Amino acid sequence: MEWNRREFLKIAGATTAVAAFGGLGFDLGQAQAQAVAQADKLKFTKQSTSVCCYCSVGCGLIASTDKNGEGKVVNIEGDPDHPISEGSLCPKGASHYQLGKNDRRIYKVLYRAPYAENWEEKSWDWALDRIARKVKDVRDASFTAKDAKGRTVNRCEGLASVGSAAMDNEECWIYQAMLRAMGLTYIEHQARI
Ligand code: SF4
Repeated sequence: MEWNRREFLKIAGATTAVAAFGGLGFDLGQAQAQAVAQADKLKFTKQSTSVCCYCSVGCGLIASTDKNGEGKVVNIEGDPDHPISEGSLCPKGASHYQLGKNDRRIYKVLYRAPYAENWEEKSWDWALDRIARKVKDVRDASFTAKDAKGRTVNRCEGLASVGSAAMDNEECWIYQAMLRAMGLTYIEHQARI
C-alpha cells in the first residue's frame, strides 16, 4: 500500500502516540486504526485544493470527492501546504463539509409564537411574507430622514443585522448592500465577532 505525505504523517503520528502512551494504560490502538482507515478512505477520493469562501484570510482547503461515485464531497479539511493557513481552519472554515451534509439540518420552517411553549411547522411562503412585513413595519417606524440639526441622514436605527454563518463573501456583499439601501447602520458579520 502506498501513502502520500499527508497520509504518512497522520499514520506515523498515531503510531508514535500508541508507542509512547500504550504502556501507560491509554487505549490508543483505536486512534491508530482510525488514522489507517482515514488514509485508506482517501485512496478512493480525488483531492482538490480550494480557498475558504468565508473571509479575507483566505485559508486553504483540500476537498476530497468520491472517485467512483458522482463526484460527491466526502471530506473537507485544511491544506497543510497552503502558505497562509498551513492546514489550520477556524471553526467556521472547518465546518465546510457540513454545508453539504448535515443530518441535524432543519429543512422546515419552525415558528414559536410569543409566549407559546411549542414550535409549529409553517410554510416558506408564510415565513418569508412575515419576515418582509416585520422588516418593512420596523424600518418605516424607525426611519430617520433628518437628524436633530436638520441634516439629511436617511438612517434606520430600529433594525440590526448580525450574520450569517453560512454566507460566503459574495453573498455578504449583496446582503450588506441591501441593508445599507434600507438605511441600516448596525451591520455586523459573524466572521469578525
Ligand atoms: S472563515 Fe476561517 S477558515 Fe475561512 S478563511 Fe476565514 S479564518 Fe480561514
